[in-house]
Amino acid sequence: MEPPTPPLPITDALTEPFWAGARAGRLVIQRCRGCGLYIHLPRPVCRRCQSDDLGHEEVSGRGTVYSFTETRKAFHPFFVERVPYLVAVIDLEEQPGLHLLSNLVRVAEPDVRFNMAVRVAFEELSPELTIPVFEPVPA
Ligand code: ZN
Repeated sequence: MEPPTPPLPITDALTEPFWAGARAGRLVIQRCRGCGLYIHLPRPVCRRCQSDDLGHEEVSGRGTVYSFTETRKAFHPFFVERVPYLVAVIDLEEQPGLHLLSNLVRVAEPDVRFNMAVRVAFEELSPELTIPVFEPVPA
């Protein structure tokens, strides 16, 4: 039997730069060229200055754990062999409140702390899909 493949994101012009960046090992976030605001999730208009002149930029990949939970039930066949895993909201350092939903790796649930420093890493789930994940920054 073939191993299960991951569910793939349905991308569009707004979200494809994020996924293309991940495939290239870069964390890419939408940014307003008018006022400099980083925007995630991507949207067609800047919420601060209403500009539609939006681009995408690579960010540092550094951040802190804003919130997290452990997932113990697989909601798709691909995840059966992966549970339990940690889902986290990462607060990226570029801007207060710039949050990214991701996974924590190379750390066990009892060792996770709110506000702990993390950095991006990339996990290739299939030839079409690489996802940004976050790992603790070594002390
Ligand atoms: Zn703006």
